[in-house]
Amino acid sequence: MNPSAFDVVIIGAGGAGLTAAIYTARANLSTLILEKMVPGGQIVSTELVENYPGFQDGIMGAEIAQRMEAQAARYGARLDSGEVNRIFRQDGHFQIEAGGERYQARAVILAMGASFRTLGVPNEKEFTGKGVSYCATCDGAFFRGKELVVVGGGDSALQEGIFLTKFAAKVSIVHRRDKLRASPILQERALENPKIRFIWDTVIDKIEGAGKVESVLLRNVKTQALETFGTGGVFIFIGHEPNSGIAKGFVATDDHGYVIAETGYRTSVPGVFAAGEIRKGAVHQLVSACGEGCGAALALQAYLESSN
Ligand code: NAP
Repeated sequence: MNPSAFDVVIIGAGGAGLTAAIYTARANLSTLILEKMVPGGQIVSTELVENYPGFQDGIMGAEIAQRMEAQAARYGARLDSGEVNRIFRQDGHFQIEAGGERYQARAVILAMGASFRTLGVPNEKEFTGKGVSYCATCDGAFFRGKELVVVGGGDSALQEGIFLTKFAAKVSIVHRRDKLRASPILQERALENPKIRFIWDTVIDKIEGAGKVESVLLRNVKTQALETFGTGGVFIFIGHEPNSGIAKGFVATDDHGYVIAETGYRTSVPGVFAAGEIRKGAVHQLVSACGEGCGAALALQAYLESSN
């Protein structure tokens, strides 16, 4: 076997990819995981994970990611850093190009997950890292004593908004409706937090400042009234988009770019499986990403056995 040839190449080292690797490596399949950023995926930017079974006091996101990585390595999975540019089939094998290297695989698991959605308003890009952030765990401590704006009405906005009250003097959660999407337990915690206030039926039209965030231009969507609202930072938590760029055109995807693999984690291409948040219909939870990684690994083993 050539040194860059593997039974399985897993693209993405989040909860789904790392769990898949634990299963394929333990099944004695030579396994390579390719990751363009740090292993762990979205969980790395979550401070405390409170709903992963077995950890009744919660576990730090970074710690569980490290443990999963070590567990995959312990069974022989190799983790390489590199961004996959292309995947195609040639000579009966899958060819994966990443960081100037070419890898070959008998089967592939797509586990690239999803990335945060951006607002797309003026100055958002320019001020990213200068007051605009998508990660409270990464950046919260830089905003000690400041008044902050959080955008969104889902679990992420509320969980991260609550986390930010550890540092901020005040957190204003701007939501485009007057009803939250977040789970009742987080709603309760946010509503009773004295440092949090909600600004309902409102969107941000523009982020403003001289070199860094100083204010946002708010618009009430019901009255169209505009207000300049002073803030030291804007944290944006408005959902995610699938990281499916390299998969598009290779396997079937839906209108939003999610990979279609609704039966047995099988994509439209035999030998290619999808697991975790990249997959249409997946639930955005660490425990389900791990479950999907396991399911895809078992489906892949059955595929390789039947194609031998
Ligand atoms: P989400 O549930 O999709 O919520 C996104 C929020 O952003 C919604 O309130 C949405 O408003 C708003 N939004 C979307 N696009 C917007 C735009 N362009 N401008 C302004 N607001 C916009 O996303 P999420 O909160 O990241 O959560 C994703 C998934 O992860 C969910 O399934 C959630 O349960 C899960 N999650 C769970 C936990 C936990 O269990 N503790 C923590 C984090 C995330 P509308 O409500 O009007 O659509």
